[in-house]
Amino acid sequence: MSWVKAWKSPRKKPNTKKARGLDLTVKAPFFIMKREHYKRVLLKISGEALAGEQGFGIDTDVLDGIANEIQAIQKSGIEVAIVVGGGNIFRGVKGATRGMDRATADYMGMLATVLNCLALQDALERKGVFTRVQSAIEMRALAEPYIRRKAVRHLEKGRVVIFAAGVGSPYFTTDTTAALRAMEMNCQVLLKATSVDGIYTADPKLHPEATRFEQLTYMDVLQKGLKVMDSTAISLCMDNKLPIIVFNLRAKGSMEKVTQGQTIGTLVHI
Ligand code: UDP
Repeated sequence: MSWVKAWKSPRKKPNTKKARGLDLTVKAPFFIMKREHYKRVLLKISGEALAGEQGFGIDTDVLDGIANEIQAIQKSGIEVAIVVGGGNIFRGVKGATRGMDRATADYMGMLATVLNCLALQDALERKGVFTRVQSAIEMRALAEPYIRRKAVRHLEKGRVVIFAAGVGSPYFTTDTTAALRAMEMNCQVLLKATSVDGIYTADPKLHPEATRFEQLTYMDVLQKGLKVMDSTAISLCMDNKLPIIVFNLRAKGSMEKVTQGQTIGTLVHI
């Protein structure tokens, strides 16, 4: 057939139900949000997660396990930004309750996050994962200063970017930092890694009868006072429609599952 004939002959319609107007698939109701296969994620790791069973400091075996999980998702082509907490070393509020100046105590907390970030960077680089640490408080000998566009470029190049020193100001938390950086990096989701497999009606370690929510709205979290993230972080996510998935970091392969859109943990959304 010449190209003229081919051009004139009517294009064959696909013989599918959709093409014949018979697509009767029931769409999920708006409040059931489908999980996605994410391309760029922000992972929030609390300081406590790095402490392992000892409850303080850094457990190098735990750190190694976390690095393995991160390496697996990074290898699958997902761009990974990370915010690390510092609660395993120092918390501003705790210092303040013992009479310290709150702002000074918070700066100490921010420095604690830098220690954790360097430890995570080291664990990842030993596995051959390229990383950059960017700090909100300048410390040129250790880390790059936080520059949003530069951080985005690193992500595009496949480097794991680790954000240190929170937002660089006292009276904030690393959860709020995670929400903020996720938005600045245009991440599709904030993955909040915890030691339980989602959000429960009550603390499952103290109340074995507690049940897990598969999904919740931001308002549910705020109104029920669920201890997921602090209210500033939740509000920031709510105002900018950034979904949060709370999942268990200790379960092997969970990070990969969650980024592939499998229904594990609890999804918090609009
Ligand atoms: N912090 C701060 N500003 C920030 C982030 C953190 O002042 O933007 C301080 C604050 O004192 C906090 C400490 O750093 O208690 C450690 O961070 P966080 O408690 O969020 O760590 P996590 O609970 O995730 O281990």
